[in-house]
Amino acid sequence: MKELFSKGITFIKSNPRILYSLFFLILIPLAVFLNTFFILKNFQKNIDTITHSKVILAEDIINIYTESYLDDPAKLEDLINKVMAKNDEVKQFEFLSINPENNSFKIIASSEQPNIGKNTTEVQNILAWNQNEGIAFLGSDGQGRVWKITKILSNEAGEKVGLISLAISLDYSDKLINSTINNSYFMLIATILIILLLVANNTRLFDYALSFYKIKEVDKMKDNFISMASHELRSPLTAIKGYLELLDDRNKDKIDEESLKYIKNMNSSVDRLNSLVTDILEISKIEGNRIPFEITVFNPQPIIQKITEEMHFQASQKNLTIEYADVELPNIKADKARVEQIVINLVSNALKYTMKGKVEILTEVKNKELLITVTDTGVGISSENLDGLFEKFYRIKNKGLEAVTGTGLGLWIARGLAQKMNGDITAESIEGVGSHFILHLPLA
Ligand code: ADP
Repeated sequence: MKELFSKGITFIKSNPRILYSLFFLILIPLAVFLNTFFILKNFQKNIDTITHSKVILAEDIINIYTESYLDDPAKLEDLINKVMAKNDEVKQFEFLSINPENNSFKIIASSEQPNIGKNTTEVQNILAWNQNEGIAFLGSDGQGRVWKITKILSNEAGEKVGLISLAISLDYSDKLINSTINNSYFMLIATILIILLLVANNTRLFDYALSFYKIKEVDKMKDNFISMASHELRSPLTAIKGYLELLDDRNKDKIDEESLKYIKNMNSSVDRLNSLVTDILEISKIEGNRIPFEITVFNPQPIIQKITEEMHFQASQKNLTIEYADVELPNIKADKARVEQIVINLVSNALKYTMKGKVEILTEVKNKELLITVTDTGVGISSENLDGLFEKFYRIKNKGLEAVTGTGLGLWIARGLAQKMNGDITAESIEGVGSHFILHLPLA
């Protein structure tokens, strides 16, 4: 038990937020309980008052009804029996006459037969008689609470002749209130259970928040590591590239053909490694929101034209044609260099994955966006592959294209850049027919 207690204290110390939850655990049920309790108390008080005035009214009516035969106990007894038979709330009903000599009262008719004829000097009778008022008090008849009310009886001439006494049970309303109180206890327990569940959930949410925070920290560390490692890799790669070029330029005549082939292979491997490092660095910058965008308003027409011209040579080497439907374009709002980078990437891919036919750049204005579509008549992409196309390192294994190298990062970067400029890249394709890569950019 002691161990459990100290474990509890340690848990609370390491999770101080739990105190906040515990506070609510006590406060909310207490508020619910007090609210129910006071409402019921008021309700009970109101019922008591209503019953009280009902009894007084009943006594007044009975008095008017019995005025003419107050000296006929048989008739009074008959009335008592009738009333008692119809109302089980009436617990006691008596008519009393006064003996003015000694201020005592004689029971002339009663719901309790043995009392008939007895003398009584009960205080409430004397008080009612002397003060000419109805005397009421809440008492008990041994089974439950009752209103005992005594009132003056007067004859037709308006003279005081005796007393009428009624005891009305509050059993019915008390039962109702008790069952409501029981229900409220049940509600109280249910509320505590619900709050306990909420507290448990809250603690779990707190754990999630903590894990989320830790994951973010680790993510940041990963970004920093990638950024540092890529920078560190780039320097030796630049050095290797430089030495390879020196070897190629200065010693071309001295090196045999086979070694030249090796140098060429080394060169292209270094190029691939370089572009991989560049891509990884770019990804870490996009993910860490560290790309310095220079957003300006400009017309993209000259840029697309320039790219088309520059890519002509690359296209002709594969016997492909590259076309640009040069139409007047509206201004867009984006980073010029990044737009150029994205279009180059899309056109390079189109040339890379097209064996025959043409690559075409089309433009269109739609929904406050400029759409630059790069179409090709290449290998195309199946619908299953289209789903994962923009994921990192996603490369499709096309038959006959095994030799085509790449990192699977180009499209992810291109789309990441477009999205950071409030644009996007979407793709449509039919396998074996060709693809459409659409760059969406916001109009100025
Ligand atoms: P990489 O070209 O370096 O592999 P990308 O991210 O640019 O990486 O492209 C991912 C994959 O999408 C490619 O491996 C290729 O399978 C497919 N792909 C991209 N562009 C095209 C295209 N124009 N036609 C067919 N497939 C394409």
